Amino acid sequence: MIENAPVYWYDEIDSTSEEAKRRARSGDLGPVWIAARAQSAGKGRLGRKWESPEGNLFSTLLFPESGGLKLASRIPFAAALAVRDACARSVPEMAAELKWPNDVRVRGQKMSGILTESGKTNDALWIALGIGINVQTAPEGTGQETSSLRKEGAPVGLTPEMVLTDLRDAVSERVKQARQDFESLLNDWTRYAEGIGQTVQAGPVQNRIEGVFESLAPDGGLNLRLPDGALHTIRAGDVELVRQVD
Ligand code: ATP
Repeated sequence: MIENAPVYWYDEIDSTSEEAKRRARSGDLGPVWIAARAQSAGKGRLGRKWESPEGNLFSTLLFPESGGLKLASRIPFAAALAVRDACARSVPEMAAELKWPNDVRVRGQKMSGILTESGKTNDALWIALGIGINVQTAPEGTGQETSSLRKEGAPVGLTPEMVLTDLRDAVSERVKQARQDFESLLNDWTRYAEGIGQTVQAGPVQNRIEGVFESLAPDGGLNLRLPDGALHTIRAGDVELVRQVD
């Protein structure tokens, strides 16, 4: 049960997701939260670097997923909503938006990174859900604009431990919702969707497609209305970027 997952805090670690994967490969599938006060090798998707200054939250939830890849594919959407929920506990007035499939941004500034990885050990599927939230520091020089809870009005006394407490509750709730009623989860996701109803570019860099971001497909795919009127669905696995067209 994810809601009862214990938390293991490290003062310093290479990356909480690497530690979660080491555990999973050794047969310990959790559920467990791995959290660190400092990370020396934080990673984002596609091996990108995740800037990890102290005072921010670095965490990974490792858990077994008996529902197979179909349920695993719902997790990024649940995670993005959970991050939004948790951030709203610290800064209720913050207008965080969700960039498909799982970025959380404020005024286009990135607040959180979510990295969902999965694997099998002895035929049992596991998920390592990595979540970084900028609590005190919005790092510069990342290649994109960033924000932090502090920048959005949270007190200087807000610690990563406090944010993780809210995040644990929110992730448990949203993962439960994703399992039981994915349609309602996607409806919630859509309420906060960045770029919905607007012209966006999506798809892999080599094959960017432009269209109007119309809705989410029942499996969470991004429905793009193309200039010729056809509806094209992009799956999360294909996506590199979704950018609004200026
Ligand atoms: P995007 O679509 O925003 O590029 P992504 O989902 O492909 O994101 P992520 O794994 O979420 O990638 O994040 C990695 C990217 O986030 C890095 O390439 C960098 O631009 C940016 N980044 C790195 N560290 C931070 C940070 N602490 N806060 C905000 N953004 C960061």
